[in-house]
Amino acid sequence: MDPSKPLTSIKGVGPGRAEQFARLGLFSLSDLLEFMPRGYLDYSKERLIADIDDGETAAVRIGFIGPVRVFRTKSGITVSTVSVGDASGNMTVTWFNQPYISRIVPKEPGGYVVGTMDRRSGVRFLGASFSKTLPGVVPVYPLVKGLNQGTVRKAVRAALDACADSIEETMPASRREKYGLIGLKDAVCAVHFPESAEMLEKARRRLAFEDAAVLTLVLETLRGERKAERGIAFRTSGLLGEFLSYLPFEPTEAQYAVMNELALDMASPKPMSRLIQGDVGSGKTVLALYAMFIAAKNGYQSVLMAPTEILAEQHFAQLSRIFGEKAACLTGHMSAREKAAVLEAIANGSVTAVTGTHALIESGVEFSKLGVVITDEQHRFGVRQRAAIGKKAEAPDTVIMSATPIPRTLSLILYGDLDISIVRGMPPGRKPAVTKLVGEHKRIDMYRYIEKLIRDEGVQAYAVCPMIGDNEELEDVRSAEALFDELKKNLSVRVELLHGRLKAKEKEALMERFRRGEIDLLVSTTVIEVGVDVPNACIMVIESAERFGLAQLHQLRGRVGRGEKQSYCFLLTASRSKTALERLKLLTETNDGFLIAEKDLETRGPGELIGMRQHGISEFGAAALAMDLDTLREAREFAVELLASPQEGDEKLIQKARRKYEHSLENVVIN
Ligand code: ADP
Ligand code: MG
Repeated sequence: MDPSKPLTSIKGVGPGRAEQFARLGLFSLSDLLEFMPRGYLDYSKERLIADIDDGETAAVRIGFIGPVRVFRTKSGITVSTVSVGDASGNMTVTWFNQPYISRIVPKEPGGYVVGTMDRRSGVRFLGASFSKTLPGVVPVYPLVKGLNQGTVRKAVRAALDACADSIEETMPASRREKYGLIGLKDAVCAVHFPESAEMLEKARRRLAFEDAAVLTLVLETLRGERKAERGIAFRTSGLLGEFLSYLPFEPTEAQYAVMNELALDMASPKPMSRLIQGDVGSGKTVLALYAMFIAAKNGYQSVLMAPTEILAEQHFAQLSRIFGEKAACLTGHMSAREKAAVLEAIANGSVTAVTGTHALIESGVEFSKLGVVITDEQHRFGVRQRAAIGKKAEAPDTVIMSATPIPRTLSLILYGDLDISIVRGMPPGRKPAVTKLVGEHKRIDMYRYIEKLIRDEGVQAYAVCPMIGDNEELEDVRSAEALFDELKKNLSVRVELLHGRLKAKEKEALMERFRRGEIDLLVSTTVIEVGVDVPNACIMVIESAERFGLAQLHQLRGRVGRGEKQSYCFLLTASRSKTALERLKLLTETNDGFLIAEKDLETRGPGELIGMRQHGISEFGAAALAMDLDTLREAREFAVELLASPQEGDEKLIQKARRKYEHSLENVVIN
């Protein structure tokens, strides 16, 4: 079957189901084939009841099974239980409000029960299901409401059955052999239905390799093109003194070092392509301002693209201090009249320093003489957008600023087309946040403590919930709304809710009130994740912390501790998984973003760092799941070599690279 067919063309997927899949961004059969599990559960070995840790999910061979008992608790919950035993002991398999479960419980020993160990009261096994054979390695997919793992797996199975044969191999056998890669079709099948842990590793390696190679093909081609271009040679000497006079502080040594690198790049006739990495709060904005200042002094316009309106507004305030009337801000939610006026001013050159959001990429925006393009918080923009904004001028100098500290080894792959600067350390006078892990049983104590801090110290607080996007609903996670209600009930402070579904104007108004200190506690989704600067905010509460990547948690934590007062970060988690807790513990021990990123890379692989959504699954798909950096490094080497000396059979991968990027990078020619 043609993989571009809609999901409804498989059995068992009707319009209703298709609508649920659509919320995951899945529309066609090939979307489903490329839909990567977010993790795996390994049931390839049977486990003894006595050996299973609290919170661990495992498969147990049923050596003994008792009768099913069903009863109702005083609060009206239906509880079904059955006693299951093996050589090591017994446990009570327990279901809540699932009376029909008794129909699927086997009457005889033999077979397996799969579930999650709960040792808080007795030895209980929760969320259990039964299986005649060991389930093996099982994928776990991201879900939305209405879908469960079983439904997704069934649909993936059907899609594979229907069109696995149309998966075309992209690498010739000789190349695959050299790098020990399995075939693409086998890899796609195994990533969804791994026969063993070993096979799964091979599949992930193949897919990661392919994605990293494709990414490298594109980035290397871009780099080659830019190197050949002639850019602007800005005059940079003698400008620093005047620039410094606009600043309320003296730059740190680290900032001076990067400013110097920027000035050197700008003075060169080659177009600059530089990535500036620096921890949250390390002071990157001033670097952007400096580049914009140099541009203005040379009669060029510059643009600073921010990922959110809130940030764009903050940048605008700073630009206005330096450039006065010649600063402008463009966002998507301005009135048509305001927008037209700003567009006109940008086009006729009466404004020189422009900031704004994605609205800046829209085709209606024409600059009169654009010389410098800066994107703030790069990880929010994909390669596509990086390229699109660069097209607003002939060969502008480009700077990308990222607050996600990425280990150098990984930046080389993700940003292979860029030179890299790192802002080390922090501006003086920063106290690192005191970070604590808070279990569910300490929640109320934490509320009291926060209330006291707010009252006694006059500080403000953020509470963040892991809602990934507007359309996604995570299962069993307290939503921002729910947390808001709860905090309102439990704390006698001024609480407000900021979330992605609010109108831009409402968001701004809330942020403004928070900045002015009229709100004590701001509950939000991750919209405040990037760049917001409120020095009096000293408390950060993160709900379901185990749901976030370490790097992202570190970034969120960076929102506090920007003033004089001691700041706190509370990581709430109900997780009892040992690995999750260990991971979180690292944050309580260090404040060094690069160290955290490196640890994250070691323990979880690049996926955690990159964030699949941030890079866009289609752009850097399975590679985000790859466990080892070596694979990515090899893939990069391979792609560089392929470009230098292509062999017969390499066209397929090159075509794939071209297809993946052609909409955004019309001008990129990969030979
Ligand atoms: P980020 O790297 O996260 O973008 P910002 O540029 O927003 O960081 O800077 C964070 C805060 O630190 C801002 O309030 C900024 O004014 C301040 N800051 C930056 N550099 C210095 C410095 N050299 N000395 C004192 N304060 C500084
Ligand atoms: Mg910033």
